[in-house]
Amino acid sequence: MLEKKRKRITLKIGTRVLTDDQNRIDREMIANIADQVADVRGSGVEVVLVSSGAVGSGLGILGLDKKNISLSEMQAAASIGQSHLMNIYNEFLTKRGYVAGQMLLTQEDFSDRRRFLNIKYTLNTLLKHKAVPIVNENDSVSTNEIKCGDNDRLSGLVADLADSDMLVILTDVDGLYDEENRVIGCVGDITGDIRALCKGKGCFESTGGMITKLEAVKNATHAGIECVIAGGKNKNVFADIVKGKSIGTKFNARQRTVKARKRWIAFSLKAKGSIVIDEGAEKAIVEKKKSLLPSGIIKVDGTFSDGDVVEVISKERSVIARGLSNYSAVEISKIMGKKSAEIEKELGYKDYDEVVHRDNLVVVEKE
Ligand code: GLU
Repeated sequence: MLEKKRKRITLKIGTRVLTDDQNRIDREMIANIADQVADVRGSGVEVVLVSSGAVGSGLGILGLDKKNISLSEMQAAASIGQSHLMNIYNEFLTKRGYVAGQMLLTQEDFSDRRRFLNIKYTLNTLLKHKAVPIVNENDSVSTNEIKCGDNDRLSGLVADLADSDMLVILTDVDGLYDEENRVIGCVGDITGDIRALCKGKGCFESTGGMITKLEAVKNATHAGIECVIAGGKNKNVFADIVKGKSIGTKFNARQRTVKARKRWIAFSLKAKGSIVIDEGAEKAIVEKKKSLLPSGIIKVDGTFSDGDVVEVISKERSVIARGLSNYSAVEISKIMGKKSAEIEKELGYKDYDEVVHRDNLVVVEKE
């Protein structure tokens, strides 16, 4: 007999949903979320939670103002806030027979393929037990260089890694608004026009603004995951979305055409530099699905090593692909514009003919 396909949902909750205007954690809100998660789990749907609120609640406890503090104070706030937050989640989940499983991650955990896969195994194991995985950025150790960025991006990465069917992002606005300030019910593709809507309500560009949400949603929908952005303060909103009610803005899943390893290259890794290429190379990569050779490169930017992710940029300066570079930025600056047969003459050695092999290259869809 075929095993019934399990359903899994990643739920992201923003700081503003969880805290009041004095940065205090709203216990009732967490009780409500824990209840909804337990109800959804009880209906046979697995839930991976990505919860913000560590820094916010830590600042509240310490009586600090985000605007005037150092990085180490912010990290101390995260450390205090995170354990406070988890205690409250645990208190309410336990009442419903579940236990919280904390997972604190940084960009490095996504960049290392082995660690990346380990996160997946741990999530799966937590979900096999009566545990609710609660993921957050490891803010008490992460600095800008190793940060995932924001929890919207993190939730998109987690949704894909956890093989979710749906990503629900709960925030303090009711969805994506059109020019007349009405919530848009459904979005097909995240085009330039959709991005342009990010000027109005809920579209502040800070951490957790609508732009970062759309970025996360774009990656998730390309991984075949349906997404919903909705107002998190509304009672039962998550459970109602899971039941199929039309709430907030829904983003249709795309057909999953890019394999898991390539999605990992395209979305999970952060680019360390960029390579500008000529029109011939652009055509070869986009239309003929070829590798990137040194002859088509006209400029290299950033300091990266071999094995790092680079953005491949057209002459018009738009990103057309992302991939793992076989050569460092210094090496590329010596071989760009040259034929592959000349690599050895320029460098004194040759490891590869291609700067980015097509197996490690993902073409980014044009908007
Ligand atoms: N990781 C941060 C926190 O828990 C939140 C970052 C974000 O919301 O993007 O406070």
